[in-house]
Amino acid sequence: MNDDYLKLGSGYLFSEIARRVQAFQAGHPQAKLIRLGIGDVTQPLPAAVITGLHAAVDEMARAETFRGYGPETGYEFLTAAIAKRDYGARGVSLALDEIFVSDGAKSDAANIQEIFAADCVVALTDPVYPVYLDSNVMAGRAGSPDASGRYDRVVYLPCTAENGFEPALPARPVDLIYLCYPNNPTGSVLARPALQRWVDWARRQSAVILYDAAYEAYIRDPEIPHSIYEIEGAREVAIEFRSFSKSAGFTGTRCAFTVVPKELEGKDADGQPVSLNALWFRRMSTKFNGVPYVIQRAAAAVYTDEGRRQTRAIIDAYMDNARIIRQGLEAAGLAVYGGRNAPYIWVKTPPGLSSWDFFDKLLNDAHVVGTPGAGFGPSGEGYFRLTAFGRREQAEEAVGRIKARLAL
Ligand code: PLP
Repeated sequence: MNDDYLKLGSGYLFSEIARRVQAFQAGHPQAKLIRLGIGDVTQPLPAAVITGLHAAVDEMARAETFRGYGPETGYEFLTAAIAKRDYGARGVSLALDEIFVSDGAKSDAANIQEIFAADCVVALTDPVYPVYLDSNVMAGRAGSPDASGRYDRVVYLPCTAENGFEPALPARPVDLIYLCYPNNPTGSVLARPALQRWVDWARRQSAVILYDAAYEAYIRDPEIPHSIYEIEGAREVAIEFRSFSKSAGFTGTRCAFTVVPKELEGKDADGQPVSLNALWFRRMSTKFNGVPYVIQRAAAAVYTDEGRRQTRAIIDAYMDNARIIRQGLEAAGLAVYGGRNAPYIWVKTPPGLSSWDFFDKLLNDAHVVGTPGAGFGPSGEGYFRLTAFGRREQAEEAVGRIKARLAL
């Protein structure tokens, strides 16, 4: 077996949350819990997507329009829409074979490390979306964990209120850096000058930035870049992950894509340049056989005029929840971050309360379930994550209860 799997953390966060919620419910069967911990969307697929899906299913029923295996990296009707609507509209020009359609940003963010050397040094922001760390632990790249769960070969970049949740450039040489903006879990974004600093640093270091933009659709501030390729020089140093999960409700439908520009090169053992686009194509065509035709048609429907209007309305509703939660918690006297360009609200726990203490307090006093920040990494201690993916009434009731019942 692969011993590196034994070095993984216990995945204890969500099972421990479930255990505590179950114990509370057993003791308080009448309590009406509001769950603001989930990172999953709740609104149904937009009507335009459903229409696209139905039409594609009917095509599969006729011999003349039936599809078998498709192109491994995606049908052109989808990659062309992505290139034009997501990138061209922002002044970024992509060739269609730089776009790799996949079944999820999670799989791509986890699998991308395969094309890099086993001894690459990886930097991660802390707190972090756990997939980046765990996939490198499985690959043997992270080293061994210490008592606090930190791996000895990983460079951790703390993101706290003190540095405005903006990671400092690594103090030692690093080969790969995962950046996620808008950020899960902190809800923070990177302004253009900050992202330019990262791109310039990566060019100097010959490092590769793995840029997770799964939440780009939630950006409201016109100054914030949606894609790292809006930054000069990024095509030489960055891979970008996008997803229809949070932008169009595809968490259960599954469609995403990854961009690997042709300029992006690594070095082989002899120091010769190697195209990462070619390696990722080889990897995908060997281990993946494409996203279902009907799902790609559904994703393409997101780019129609109705699709764009409908997805925008859904995101607006989630962002209204984010505003309600953010303003409500601020009125309750809490320090609140995020929630302006992201569906995540990151709350500083009151003095003297750890993130698990605050979890228990919120559960017991307000019957609201969130996620303790410590579950996302050591620098998440002292913070708490709430999400905007519920219904508006839930957001309103949750902040009402927190204001009324939490003596802070
Ligand atoms: N990237 C980040 C930062 C996420 O938070 C998530 C889901 O929560 C994903 C990727 C997963 O996206 P997908 O549903 O496309 O696999």
